[in-house]
Amino acid sequence: MNRPSGARDQERGRTHEQGRTDELGDTLDRPLRDLRVSVTDRCNFRCVYCMPREVFGTDFEFLAREQLLTFEEIHRLVGIFAGLGVEKVRITGGEPLLRRDLETLVGMLSTIDGIDDLTLTTNASLLPKKASALAAAGLDRITVSLDALDDEVFRSMTDQPVPVQRVLDGIESAALAGMTPVKVNMVVKRGANEDQIPKMAEHFRGTGHILRFIEYMDVGNTNGWRLDDVVPARAIHGAIHERWPLEPLDARYPGEVATRYRYLDGAGEIGIISSVTRPFCATCTRARLTASGELFTCLFAGSGHDLKGPLREGLSDSEIAGLIRRIWGRRTDRYSELRSEATVDRPRVEMSRIGG
Ligand code: SAM
Ligand code: SF4
Ligand code: SF4
Repeated sequence: MNRPSGARDQERGRTHEQGRTDELGDTLDRPLRDLRVSVTDRCNFRCVYCMPREVFGTDFEFLAREQLLTFEEIHRLVGIFAGLGVEKVRITGGEPLLRRDLETLVGMLSTIDGIDDLTLTTNASLLPKKASALAAAGLDRITVSLDALDDEVFRSMTDQPVPVQRVLDGIESAALAGMTPVKVNMVVKRGANEDQIPKMAEHFRGTGHILRFIEYMDVGNTNGWRLDDVVPARAIHGAIHERWPLEPLDARYPGEVATRYRYLDGAGEIGIISSVTRPFCATCTRARLTASGELFTCLFAGSGHDLKGPLREGLSDSEIAGLIRRIWGRRTDRYSELRSEATVDRPRVEMSRIGG
């Protein structure tokens, strides 16, 4: 069941504001509402736009176990973030389902006051086995990444021999477990998978799942991003609209990253996330916590702020809240609005570390 905003708290007979301190705003007056929590920097895929195998090969040094935040530490930090205004939490990675007993963490996070929406982004390769345990633990919804319907194209994107059918099975298992609507994210890279746009649209029309197309982004410094590789949102829209006419839908809440459209024939909706050609920094309310406990205030930041150290040194919740408050209060990030040739070579954190 997809719970409307506030539903978790209503179920517990609480209002949103309880347990909240005053509103937190950055230098551009943007509140802190969403937190992406990466639980691992490891992945069983090697998507060309995220973890190219030439860089993330057998000798790549991933985080050691003791460097990872424990479930208790994540739970404590998310509770502090909730007190500062965070309402939505997305668990991500690397591949989050590689983290053992993830459903235990989901169960812990699902009890935090003020978190209305608890979701997970996954490549779904392990989802058929995990979906019902995650739903039972309190996960509201799932976003599955799938870049192609043809096995050959899919393999060329993921650089891993997992068949598309496994991902489709994962999507169905999430839906069967009640985590609907399932969102399906497709990163579009020119010359790699743009031919899959109409195939994906056709496949997911009428299923109730929401397909979202993502412009290929210059996250990190290892994927060799070039502006020419980006298929702009208007071209993605055009490729679908010419076959199945679309009309725009209103955003469901301020700061929603996807521009929404519905099929005029009633076959459901799609979204387009155009962070390159139509940036949405002005309404960006997202913070990111890495698996090693660093807080990033922008997907394209060069460095983060350590929260694990203060946590392990014994700072109190209110001291850590003060630290986060100061970090967010100084936030000036608007990378996508300022993107230019000059920013391409700037050091940026890798997507697998920060979480999408
Ligand atoms: N492994 C999980 C997955 O793939 O769903 C979660 C982590 S992944 C980093 C989160 C999202 O980031 C995925 O939907 C992925 O497609 C997207 N992503 C990764 N690199 C990207 C890039 N360079 N441009 C746009 N999206 C990207
Ligand atoms: Fe792994 Fe997700 Fe990155 Fe692909 S996009 S390499 S599945 S973390
Ligand atoms: Fe937010 Fe940074 Fe992305 Fe702008 S570039 S929308 S500030 S994460």
